Amino acid sequence: MMHREEALLQNYRDICSSLKAAAERVGREAQKITLLAVVKYASDEDVLALLKQGVLTDVGESRVQQAWARWQEDPRFAPFSKVRKHFIGHLQTNKAAKAAQLFDFIDSIDSPETVRALAKHVPAGKILRVLVQVKLTHKQTQSGLPLPQARQLAARLRGAFENIDVCGYMAVAPQGADAPTLRALFKPLAHAFETDFATHPQAQLSLGMSEDFEIAVEEGSTLPRIGSLLFK
Ligand SMILES: *Cc1c(COP(=O)(O)O)cnc(C)c1O
Repeated sequence: MMHREEALLQNYRDICSSLKAAAERVGREAQKITLLAVVKYASDEDVLALLKQGVLTDVGESRVQQAWARWQEDPRFAPFSKVRKHFIGHLQTNKAAKAAQLFDFIDSIDSPETVRALAKHVPAGKILRVLVQVKLTHKQTQSGLPLPQARQLAARLRGAFENIDVCGYMAVAPQGADAPTLRALFKPLAHAFETDFATHPQAQLSLGMSEDFEIAVEEGSTLPRIGSLLFK
């Protein structure tokens, strides 16, 4: 039986080769794509195993409390404080203070109020990066803003706070959608991203999860978010 650590490392390698192949199919540079490892459901032991291998640069959490307990209070995670931490869940305003302190990126912005609350709590000298979340379907349960409103919010927020850097867009595709549907949803967003963030040196378009990251990369994602496939 393979040790858990080897199995995790193999998952990571498999994902990297799929990412690279997807990038090459459309003539993109694979090095410009960052794997955001979604650790929200992973055990501490699994996350630590990959951190110790030195393969994770960016991690995604969806609950402030759980993330705080890990990255702020658990001494086992202390050696990995340089790993970039992204918040990818729905941020309640009453958690903004902790979120502004803990995270490097908030990838799920959908209101000016949230950004205002974050800006009040960003520690001195820190720049908090944020992505505006775009809603790709009309489902009530989906978070984010329809693309036109998301673009307006991004435009309005850019330069509005000296400690907040608006870097791009994030979106979650509907589950189980087929490839043509996914492409049709991703394309207008990728186009908007290229237009709106053409001059931003660290622009990010975060599309794709375990099920659809290859299509997302073919359509321009720079920051696919992968959880279940990495920690399976
Ligand atoms: C959980 C989550 C992911 C990871 O999903 P997997 O299908 O497990 O890869 C990505 N993005 C968001 C916003 C999530 O909440």
